[in-house]
Amino acid sequence: MSDHVARSWVESANDPASDFPLANLPWGVFAGADGLGRIGVAIGDRVLDVRRAIEQEALQVSPATACALSASTLNALMGAGQPAWREARRAVRDLLADGAPVRSELLHEQSLVEMLLPATIGDYTDFYAARCHATNVGRMFRPDGDPLLPNYLHLPVGYHGRASSVVVSGTDIIRPHGQLKPDDGPPVFGPCRLLDHELEFGAFVGTGNDMGARVSMSEAMDRLFGIVILNDWSARDVQKWEYQPLGPFNAKNFATSISPWVVTIDALKPYRRSGPAREDGDPAVLEYLQPVTEDVLDVRCAVTLASADMRASGTAPMRISEGSLADLTWTFSQMLVHHTSTGCPMRPGDLMGSGTISGPDKSARGCLLELTWRGTEPIDLPDGTQRRFLLDGDELTIHAWCEREDAPRIGLGSCTGVIQAAK
Ligand code: CA
Repeated sequence: MSDHVARSWVESANDPASDFPLANLPWGVFAGADGLGRIGVAIGDRVLDVRRAIEQEALQVSPATACALSASTLNALMGAGQPAWREARRAVRDLLADGAPVRSELLHEQSLVEMLLPATIGDYTDFYAARCHATNVGRMFRPDGDPLLPNYLHLPVGYHGRASSVVVSGTDIIRPHGQLKPDDGPPVFGPCRLLDHELEFGAFVGTGNDMGARVSMSEAMDRLFGIVILNDWSARDVQKWEYQPLGPFNAKNFATSISPWVVTIDALKPYRRSGPAREDGDPAVLEYLQPVTEDVLDVRCAVTLASADMRASGTAPMRISEGSLADLTWTFSQMLVHHTSTGCPMRPGDLMGSGTISGPDKSARGCLLELTWRGTEPIDLPDGTQRRFLLDGDELTIHAWCEREDAPRIGLGSCTGVIQAAK
């Protein structure tokens, strides 16, 4: 029986709607009774307590892998490389598969544990890899020129972000202050008025590279540990005034949310494709960035919004957009290869954001800036209010999953945050 139809003795994992069947087995970190991080694996609506499984000798792995799995973050496992990742994954699957002894004492209820950041993130880089997003933003900010700048189709554009403000899903987002420039007057300092989300995915670097060593396209996928959902909260009014000439700064550094479960590249194997597609007339990709394996990840995603009033009255969140990670013009492999093309070292636990995922349809626009076209086309919420940008009390949630006919559905869970008033 193939891995993708295998059942688990954890009954909730066999629900076809579950994000976390036996075929997934994503890694995360939860707070133990002492408040310190413990590595876990999501299975159905439970979490496998990996350290307890090792202590009780239920998980059969080498001493080195056992040591990495007993840490309070995933960094050591990420740095251990593919053989250790596969060994750990195989051992967890053997432990949780139908037919193995039922070990309920190794599980916690997911709804009862507090999730922490999965890794200590040393560096965070955010890219801009969805052509439709770059085109839409270019049209809005530079209406008179070509919406794509001349470099866009030659290299994955990115900027170095701020690792210190990456937070786990569920963390409240405080409206930032910033310098705002009215069209008809001097800049003022105050709370951001145009607060936005950005629908993205993040890739965690696994083994990385030494300084001076470049990662090749044939190596790149094996250096990536896995992916999470990412929301790059953005202060559009701050961004508009500050971004030239060096790119985003304070508009992006106050908070970035990620989902807690890292879905591995191994689990995504049925959802890998070749590509990404180029359009007729696009320039050829330089050789060092040419794909040599299936680097495109076919992951679907949807964004919902719920105001404080909607939540208080029990109104279901409103779906405002949906998209696919396959809509990127540059893959995570190409981002990693370009990032390291200078010899820049990447370390285990470094995070790369994809850039806002927007597709060609209006329903596939990945941020409010695009969805409301700079506020000119507001969204009507079920509570009778309108949204151009996020208001205090709004809850923004991103779900992501993979599905196709010949493979079981797997999910990434969700990434959520509620906007709190400026302090
Ligand atoms: Ca972004």
